[in-house]
Amino acid sequence: MLSYEAARAKVIEVICARRCAPPPPTETIEFAEDPSRVLRRIAAEDVRADRNYPPFDRSTRDGFALRAADASQPGAKLRLIGESRAGVPFNGVVEPGTCVQIMTGAPLPRGANSIVMNEHARIEGDYVVTDEAAREGAHFVLEGQETRVGESVIARGKRLSYAELAIAAQVGRSRLVVAKKPRVAILSTGDELVAPDQSPTKYQIRNSNNVSLAAQVALAGGEPVMLGTAPDNPAQLRARIEQALEADIVALTGGVSVGKYDLVEQVLREMGAEFYFDAVAIRPGKPAVFGFCHGKPVFGLPGNPVSTMVTFELFVVPAIELLSGRKPDALALLKAELAHPLNEKPPLAHFLPARVSWPGGEAVVEAIHWEGSGDIGSVVKGNCFLVVHEAKLVYAAGEMVDVLPRRGLF
Ligand code: AMP
Ligand code: MG
Repeated sequence: MLSYEAARAKVIEVICARRCAPPPPTETIEFAEDPSRVLRRIAAEDVRADRNYPPFDRSTRDGFALRAADASQPGAKLRLIGESRAGVPFNGVVEPGTCVQIMTGAPLPRGANSIVMNEHARIEGDYVVTDEAAREGAHFVLEGQETRVGESVIARGKRLSYAELAIAAQVGRSRLVVAKKPRVAILSTGDELVAPDQSPTKYQIRNSNNVSLAAQVALAGGEPVMLGTAPDNPAQLRARIEQALEADIVALTGGVSVGKYDLVEQVLREMGAEFYFDAVAIRPGKPAVFGFCHGKPVFGLPGNPVSTMVTFELFVVPAIELLSGRKPDALALLKAELAHPLNEKPPLAHFLPARVSWPGGEAVVEAIHWEGSGDIGSVVKGNCFLVVHEAKLVYAAGEMVDVLPRRGLF
């Protein structure tokens, strides 16, 4: 059985080998009036600087622009000959023995090579007296020192957050070419399932996985395609999976264990699917299945709600990223101090519902009592999963452990 690391690497390897060659379809989005339209999307172009940044030698302080040699000692007295403010430069030259009042963001006047901050200078009539030694190069940024014209400021494949959108705006872009969101078909299987707005009989349960999966798809940058529930019946299941295969990725839940009515793998096999794993050494989530069917990546996630959540995060997220033109990051685990001892059963790695907090500045994590992989409430009480690796299952309180943050909460 594959470890979760090996299974995740397998998803990436297989999708790269089969899918990555063509870049993803793209769309151009106007965002200046509503940046949320491109927030968290993946850039599908290299965005380049239209000019040098800063475009002129720019002051970073309010103070006085001068020649450093004129004020090498505190107590220098220089004639004030004008001002430079943001957008309105001083047009003359700072000659020896003179200075120009300057504001943050204003152009450094010709002749000056230093700025003394307001806090270290005072105006006395037509003169300025300094109280600290000026330093050449102090308190301004040279033209082009941040970014040169033509330099890439956003690389293709980068996820767009507020700083990326700020720099796009800075270089004059109000629209960006981004990867289309991969469409992820979501289909739950199980005769016991009813929709959340229905009243279940005693032995029926509401389909919660479609909702959690759609939310996870959206958080990971995909477009959920809700296909409802399919019964545990081969013919009907096949028809629904065929419909699901119109999307870019298929995420099925339920029906992947070894029970009599676990039909997903069998039906996919009859449809010509090729499988790369059908079990992973994790709890929850052991029966997770990954294959390709009709050229599309297909995930069969175990139906227990916490298993579905964990296996989606581990295996489906990298598929969504790859189909958006982005190389998936390594699984982002935090380190935290364990609040209590822990003793988990071999031979699996465990993802336990847990809560991480920073009471004294350092991350501390505590597992939350749970009744197993059907217990959604235990996940809701926490904000992360505590990762217990197969190689070390016994811990004392105070040892450091890995934590998988719950997407969207941090
Ligand atoms: P399965 O993986 O089909 O054997 O299902 C395992 C457990 O998860 C059973 O208790 C199912 O009732 C439950 N389950 C399966 N699918 C869903 C779903 N879509 N929403 C909530 N619970 C589910
Ligand atoms: Mg089932």
